[in-house]
Amino acid sequence: MKLKLVKIGNPLLRKKILSISKMGMKAKRFRSFLKNMVTTMRHAGGVGLAANQVGENQRAFVMECQGNRRYPSRPAFPLQAYLNPRIVSYSKAKLRDWEGCLSIPGFRGKVPRSKQITFEALRPDGQKIRKTVRGFEARVVQHEVDHLNGLFYIDRMKDFRSWTHLEEFNRKFGIKVKIKSNPSLDLLAAVKY
Ligand code: ZN
Repeated sequence: MKLKLVKIGNPLLRKKILSISKMGMKAKRFRSFLKNMVTTMRHAGGVGLAANQVGENQRAFVMECQGNRRYPSRPAFPLQAYLNPRIVSYSKAKLRDWEGCLSIPGFRGKVPRSKQITFEALRPDGQKIRKTVRGFEARVVQHEVDHLNGLFYIDRMKDFRSWTHLEEFNRKFGIKVKIKSNPSLDLLAAVKY
């Protein structure tokens, strides 16, 4: 089942989301919720989705990049779901690269992120993991954990000169996709320069 995405301005996207309890993650409802998150992410063409982006106060995210239509040239990574994630180390070396967000539809911006990070989380089966990821995968984990801490990629941008409407972005990079959303340019008024 596809869930409704909430957008920037929704208070849940500015909250630090607390950890899910052992009881909570074993609940049947939570298992089907995770499946619905995957369906929603795939339908929206996202490479990651945090639970608060669908209006749920749960510290969980899913990610996947396999032949993604919104990020066609990005390296693939398999479907993953993490509960109670926490980034424990960031590489000093950073890279500025393009990001978009399903909660800020229709825009892309260049965001500096650590090239490599190590994070701890629980897998849906409750197993604790510690994982080091790099490159685009590390970028996606940083973006999703930020969501669970109440942050957007625009909070991480050094300045807004790279901020680009998706139509212009696709023209610039010769990407042919149908843009479903029709974002309001009023959003520009909210940006602090
Ligand atoms: Zn996002």
